[in-house]
Amino acid sequence: MIYSPQSAFQDKITISAMQNKKLGEMLRYINTHSPHYKRLFQNNNIDISAIQSVKDLVLLPVTNKEDLQQNNDDFLCVGKNRIIEYTSTSGTLGSPVTIALTENDLQRLAYNEYSSFVCADSKPDDIFQLMLTLDRQFMAGMAYYSGIRKLGAGVVRVGPGVPSLQWETIARLKPTTIVAVPSFIVKLIQFAAEHNIAINKTSVQKAICIGENIRNTDFSLNVLGKKITGHWNIKLYSTYASTEMQTAFTECGEGKGGHHQPELIIIELLDENNQPVPAGVPGEVVITSLGVEAMPLLRYKTGDICMAFDEPCKCGRSTLRLSPVIGRKKQMIKFKGTTLFAPALFELLNGMAEVREYVAEVYSNEIGTDEVLLYLVPVRNTEECDHQIRAYLQAKLRVSPHIKYMLPEEMQKLQFPETSRKPVKFIDKRTGG
Ligand SMILES: [Zn+2]
Repeated sequence: MIYSPQSAFQDKITISAMQNKKLGEMLRYINTHSPHYKRLFQNNNIDISAIQSVKDLVLLPVTNKEDLQQNNDDFLCVGKNRIIEYTSTSGTLGSPVTIALTENDLQRLAYNEYSSFVCADSKPDDIFQLMLTLDRQFMAGMAYYSGIRKLGAGVVRVGPGVPSLQWETIARLKPTTIVAVPSFIVKLIQFAAEHNIAINKTSVQKAICIGENIRNTDFSLNVLGKKITGHWNIKLYSTYASTEMQTAFTECGEGKGGHHQPELIIIELLDENNQPVPAGVPGEVVITSLGVEAMPLLRYKTGDICMAFDEPCKCGRSTLRLSPVIGRKKQMIKFKGTTLFAPALFELLNGMAEVREYVAEVYSNEIGTDEVLLYLVPVRNTEECDHQIRAYLQAKLRVSPHIKYMLPEEMQKLQFPETSRKPVKFIDKRTGG
């Protein structure tokens, strides 16, 4: 495998020729080794040699998460004896989806994250403090770890949560970069304020922000991003990835969207009829993985809605950039005549000074439309605070969601159930999916 972080700096014609070549290799590979895709091509009389370029992909069927869940083993292109790592991601039908990786896939994953960190201005002199889980079949944790090793930088695996331990470790080992969920960084800042820790005198200069948006779609910092930088003078880099993609889209220092890594993945943004949308128009992220050995995916629909931007970036990379995730298709709330994506609701709640913590629950009412129940930890347990919260939500949403106030301990249990690797912000109890 010869990969290079320099590939993103090539001109668009060179990049596109490289992608077309890799696509051809990928199609021949799955046509030979993947029971699922072999069957799909046969049943639909598809001649893969007719697919000459990325533009021709529209001629092929898409792959849904349900396909991957129902026929999980049929996506495997190698014998079980070649699998090294079994990672998982939550499925839509209850049981998790397994994504298996060979040794080559693990090396590809390490390269992917190495190249992502290079994009985010990281150097071998950096020391990274990882504030996330590395076990529970979590691919991302392992990817960060191996990417940092490949970069030759230092790594401190503290794991998720426990602000006191995070700060103690920062003081002792002096990391330059933290990798964390942005809402946890806000908690770190709160803890520091309560314990007189001078955060702007610590060694930390950068944060790689995972799992939550820190920007609006115009790339300005959103409420969460501002909550961090308003108190802590560090530079934020957003990154977007998923287990199925085995690839990350990470921001450069310009902070203008996650850069595409053209050697590793083909990306399409499609509308509801699986047709490409133009740059700057929201569409579903659909990926074709390149160079994956165990479980390559062809035109896999991620369910994430993003916008793509294709003008060259000031950093010198000519690759496409992805906006923050506008919403997940599965997390779209049809709320009394309006449509609302979960991130927009989170942005609203992050902006409320009266709300300390929240979880949003969506369920179906008797007539089959969505109802929203917000679990909130208010700043004060007073009637005045309750009035302010209700008035704010009414004004912003034009409808009143149900509200249930909680104690911090109850919220902790709700946000961190034993089965979850990430804090829970959204609970979907809707029937009929
Ligand atoms: Zn850039």
